[in-house]
Amino acid sequence: MSKPVLRFAPSPNGPLHLGHALSALVTWDAAQKLGGMALLRIEDIDTTRCKPEFVAALFEDLHWLGLSWPEPVLYQSERFELYAEAANRLRAMDLLYPCFCSRSDIAQNATGTDPDGAPLYPGTCRHMSNAERIERLERGDPVQFRLDTEAAMARTGLLTFSVIGPSVLDRPQIRYARPERWGDVVLQRKDTPTSYHLSVVVDDAAQTISHVTRGRDLEAATDIHVLLQMLLGLPAPIYFFHRLLLGDDGQKLSKSKGSQSLADLRAQGWTPDDVRRAVGL
Ligand code: GLU
Repeated sequence: MSKPVLRFAPSPNGPLHLGHALSALVTWDAAQKLGGMALLRIEDIDTTRCKPEFVAALFEDLHWLGLSWPEPVLYQSERFELYAEAANRLRAMDLLYPCFCSRSDIAQNATGTDPDGAPLYPGTCRHMSNAERIERLERGDPVQFRLDTEAAMARTGLLTFSVIGPSVLDRPQIRYARPERWGDVVLQRKDTPTSYHLSVVVDDAAQTISHVTRGRDLEAATDIHVLLQMLLGLPAPIYFFHRLLLGDDGQKLSKSKGSQSLADLRAQGWTPDDVRRAVGL
C-alpha cells in the first residue's frame, strides 16, 4: 500500500495565527503517526487578497515551528487551466449553469441558509432559457457558474465518506454526505475562474492526498467535495476534522478579529513549544 499523504493548505491572505498553527501541527503530527508525509499547498486562487509577502511569512512561521515539506510547493494560482478543465467536464455533463444574480438578489429571495449561515441560493438562474443565457453572456454581464446540485445527486445516488477520529489511528467511520443542504454552490466565481470547492478536490487528487486534515469549520463543506469527487471520478480521501481554537468571545480565531499573529508571538519571545502548549498539543 502506498504511504499516507497529508496536506496543510493555507490561504496567504494575512499572517498565520494560533488557529493555523494548530491545523499545521495536527497535520504534521498525524503524518508522523500514520508513517506518511505532509505537503504544503498554497491556496491563492483569490489573486487580489493573497500576497507574496504572506507566502514568505508563512514559510518562515512554519519553519520556525519546526515543520518541513517536500518541494516544489503547489500554488493554486498556477493551476487555473486545470480547474477550468474540471469545470468543463461538469459542463459537458450539463451540471453547470451560468448565474447572473447579485448578492442582494440572492439575499432577498433566499430559501433558507446553508450550513455556514449564508443565504441559500434560490435557484433563480437554473431555469433560464438558453437564448437568455447566450444574450447575457455575450453582453458581458458579470457571471458565476453554479453546480446543479440536485441533478448532480441524481447521477451519483447516495454518497458516503470515511472519517477518522478522535485519533488518526482510529478505524474509519462511514458517514453520509448531504450536499443538498448547500444548494447550487458556485464552482466558478465572478472574480476568479474557480472556487475553493473545485480547486480543493482537483488538488487533493493531483497531490494523491490520502488523509484530509481540516478544522471543523470545513466539515460540512466536505459534502460538496465528496459529490465533486464522485462526478469527476477522483479518489476519495479519508477525513479528519480537528477542533477549532476559540477566542475569548467564543468565536473562531481569525485575522479580521485581530488575533495575534505567530510573528507577533515570536517577537514577544514565544518558543515553538509555547505555541504547542497554547494550542493544546
Ligand atoms: N485553504 C483553506 C483555509 O485556509 C483550507 C483548505 C482545506 O482544508 O480544505 O481555510
